[in-house]
Amino acid sequence: MKLTKIYEKAPAKINLLLDVLRKREDGFHEVEMIMTMVDLADRLEMEELPRDQIVLSSQVGFIPLDEKNLAFQAAKLIKERYGVKRGVYIHLDKQIPVAAGLAGGSSDAAATLRGLNRLWNLELSTDELEVLGAELGSDVPFCIRGGTALARGRGEKLESISPPPQCWVILAKPPINVSTADVYGKFRVNELKKHPSIPDMLDALSRQSFSGMCDCLGNVLESVTLNRYPEVRQIKDCMVKAGADGVLMSGSGPTVFGLVSKEIKVARVYNALRGFCKEVYVVRMLT
Ligand code: ATP
Repeated sequence: MKLTKIYEKAPAKINLLLDVLRKREDGFHEVEMIMTMVDLADRLEMEELPRDQIVLSSQVGFIPLDEKNLAFQAAKLIKERYGVKRGVYIHLDKQIPVAAGLAGGSSDAAATLRGLNRLWNLELSTDELEVLGAELGSDVPFCIRGGTALARGRGEKLESISPPPQCWVILAKPPINVSTADVYGKFRVNELKKHPSIPDMLDALSRQSFSGMCDCLGNVLESVTLNRYPEVRQIKDCMVKAGADGVLMSGSGPTVFGLVSKEIKVARVYNALRGFCKEVYVVRMLT
């Protein structure tokens, strides 16, 4: 029987570590990141259309549904590259906060590539999908691979690594929009006093050490976003005061995540944040 409708989950990512090594001649930054998925996901439904067209819908009204949407771009790319003369209707059930530093759009693009590979029986390998994904954005290859990875280059050179130990992740997004391009534009690598340690984080993960992982969290982009947006710093301080074991901004922000190993502490951190931040999520690490 022909498969005509399929579903894909597009989980959010957090950066346990984000370091910038230098600015490259092509304008991108050379980065080293450790990324992992959390159990907060958009859901995509893909259905064959009788006409040769890409149609996108979503239950949220404030994201573009045309060529500006990364899921649309992903569908167009795979369709054109492999000469597919069929149409698809994609419904995007958005659960990941938008423009939050959680790679929501990149994960939707990755899920679209995975899904259309199945729907159209293209039989592309994960490696081939990752190469295709890199054309759409630096975080897309990781979102195709999933799991936990060390990313180099502009984020597209991946090495899968040990997953983090299981724990609770409390995500808080202040009501501000932060542009990734803007943050990188204001970032000055020469002014950095300290770089977070990749070897130490890899060691903590391979030992499955929760406290080791918390000690090694680091994101050099915090120097830009925290200075520009005091509300992000306020959320970090609040999480630390409420007893989160590790606290860090994800990506270029503004979402801050807190790691907690004991369930008993989760409610305390959640309640402390709810006072002044409307968007707070409690999820598990995807390990
Ligand atoms: P990253 O962590 O990769 O920088 P992000 O989580 O900060 O990504 P997104 O949620 O991907 O940011 O959204 C960034 C912008 O991209 C939004 O302002 C939105 O208009 C646009 N966009 C394009 N496609 C999507 C999509 N599928 N979902 C959400 N936003 C999208």
